[in-house]
Amino acid sequence: MSDGPDRRYDPHAVEARRQASWAERNAFRTPAVAEDQPHLYIKPSAPFTSGNVHIGHVRSYSVGDAYARFRRARGDDVLFAFGFDAFGLPAELGAIAGGEPPTAWVNRCAEHMKGQLQRLGFSLDWERSFLSSDVLMYRWSQWMFLTLYEAGLVYRGTGTVDWCENCQTTLASIQVEAGGTCWRCHNPVRLIELPQWYFKVSAYVTENDARLKEREAGGKWDKVALDSQLDVMGRVDGVEVELTDAEGGKVTAFTPHADAAAGASFVVISPRHPEAERWASDPIVAEQLDQMRSGGWVRSARDAETIPLIHASGTLTDPSGRELPVVISPVVDARFGPTVALGVPSEDRTDEVFARRLGLAVAAGSEPDGEQAAPAGPMPGAREAVRYKASDWVISRQRSWGTPIPIVYCEGCGTVPVPKSDLPVVLPLDITPTGTGNPLAELEDFVNTSCPSCGGAARRETDTLDCHFDALWLWIPACVPPESRDAPLEEILALGDLRHWLPSERLVAGSDSGNFVFDQRTVTKALRDIGHLDFLADGEPFAGCLFHEMVTRDNRKMSKHLGNVVDPDELVERYGADTVRLAVLFAARPQKSLNWSDSAVLRCHRFLGQVWDYTASRLALAAGGDDAEQPEIEKDTSEHLRLKLAQWLEAGVQRTTADMEELEMHSAVRNLMRLFDRIKDFEKRVLAREPGLSTANLEALLTALGVLVQMLGPFVPHMAEELWLALGNDERGSQTPWPGVSFRVPA
Ligand SMILES: [Zn+2]
Ligand SMILES: [Zn+2]
Repeated sequence: MSDGPDRRYDPHAVEARRQASWAERNAFRTPAVAEDQPHLYIKPSAPFTSGNVHIGHVRSYSVGDAYARFRRARGDDVLFAFGFDAFGLPAELGAIAGGEPPTAWVNRCAEHMKGQLQRLGFSLDWERSFLSSDVLMYRWSQWMFLTLYEAGLVYRGTGTVDWCENCQTTLASIQVEAGGTCWRCHNPVRLIELPQWYFKVSAYVTENDARLKEREAGGKWDKVALDSQLDVMGRVDGVEVELTDAEGGKVTAFTPHADAAAGASFVVISPRHPEAERWASDPIVAEQLDQMRSGGWVRSARDAETIPLIHASGTLTDPSGRELPVVISPVVDARFGPTVALGVPSEDRTDEVFARRLGLAVAAGSEPDGEQAAPAGPMPGAREAVRYKASDWVISRQRSWGTPIPIVYCEGCGTVPVPKSDLPVVLPLDITPTGTGNPLAELEDFVNTSCPSCGGAARRETDTLDCHFDALWLWIPACVPPESRDAPLEEILALGDLRHWLPSERLVAGSDSGNFVFDQRTVTKALRDIGHLDFLADGEPFAGCLFHEMVTRDNRKMSKHLGNVVDPDELVERYGADTVRLAVLFAARPQKSLNWSDSAVLRCHRFLGQVWDYTASRLALAAGGDDAEQPEIEKDTSEHLRLKLAQWLEAGVQRTTADMEELEMHSAVRNLMRLFDRIKDFEKRVLAREPGLSTANLEALLTALGVLVQMLGPFVPHMAEELWLALGNDERGSQTPWPGVSFRVPA
């Protein structure tokens, strides 16, 4: 680069040169474990193999990449890698639409997306990338299933589940939208009874809740991420009391209205409560309950006026001796989980409506004179209690594009887990999903097997694991060096590499990742208690967590249907990757939704062009090139200006460093734009006093530009490195170094 940079900014040429150099020097390879070296694992989100990188991905990886490059620039070892989330319905539907086997479809999609992400210059370690649908990888799901099964944390239950008729699949309660519709296809969801496999999330809800306070105190979890965890748990504080039935049996009932519990006038039991049957001894009630569970009602009937309720057999007596009627209704689930609740009409609109529907006199609260009556007071014997809406999660699906569940059914032995030494149970690749039912169940070669216990004939489980189950471990394999990837799972989990990189210093993911993160926090605690990952004593996989909001246009979600999609490829083609990366960071704080406008792109493109041209021309000046002859400077009258420039630089570095540590990229970019203005201002002020730039002033100017370029490195790595080299520095390591905070004032 001794000739100096091109005088015009040509992002495509610059980016091609830098990317070739990064590939040649394997710049983003994860450094080998070196304990005395500061190190961190930045966990990007695991993208669905949807086929295309969209602008939301660009936002997500621009934040993570800027942080990764910043930490490398300061000399830290960084692990920055992800695996593709390749199983599940979106991929299956994509394959159906494309008329090809899902394996071919996801491989092609992943390859294409990798190309797009590389073109954007993200510093991901591709050697550590993988697809969750690779047989080497989905054995993680099978191993985890068996490990959790042995620990009693995965179980077979016959229960009522949310069922989407359209998707022919069960949904976790968290996959049911507020209106009672399917999160994927938005059709109404029904509640039916099916044998299913469950992950016992409820075993760790209390600890997840308690540990959240520690996350908050640690200061590396942003508010959006913390709130998402509260939301998933659905914690409700209140009191519980013991009620007595006619035979003297006890039932514990909950209410959030501690101060008015004495005003309870009925009891509601969830149809999912383990003892709901007890209240259905009357055959008519039993039939109603059966109907409620087997699809007799649509989830969208959520409104208190229309949600089903069943008058149960019998009553319950509260501690003060009052007899309360009992109803069964799923209204409880959505509010407090599968529990028993007191109905307190004076305090609660839903309960008030229920009381009216039950023909009970509605007391207090709604008296005709409109006066607010005092609360009925606490219930004697009540004790503080907490309920969580989060319930055990159905992990099986009746679909073919997923991890086979390592279970066989033997006539003699019953349900038999496949021994871990026999893993993986390989998913047949010659399946062509049709979109309904489960073609896996029709493949005789797959279904018929022998029992691992007695050797007799047996049938395989044909349900597969929900792709959300893969997310339980998707954050771990990036820590595994490629040469160890095919080792037995027990060995992998004991690798020093995991101890080195975990917990992840920062997860950077979309704000819709709350459920994934909650489940990952749950499984980490489960594995810790089982004896793996015991070095994560608090059972927390992420020391820090940044959730960014989505990118919208005209304040609406982007969709092909609305025709408002921003295509990153088109933008890169037009302006170059550096401009696009900078624009998504410049336009909004990560925690705010980014309403797309082309003005951010234009502004950033202009800024980069100016930095390039300005630096190139001042370098040419310093080289004594073809620019105007420099007049003799007789007297140095600008020392105070150089001092001022040094102060601006120092303040700029301090402020930008602080912003980068907090992942406030938006603010950091603005600092750098301001700093560039100040550098230009310095020159302008010098030239107002002196006929040209003295050597000392030119040196100060180039030093300042060098510092600016160093700090631009994490945002616009191609341009920054190119200018950094032009300023006389070496091509070294993975990243232009970050400037120190103190600057010598050139004499
Ligand atoms: Zn659906
Ligand atoms: Zn057997």
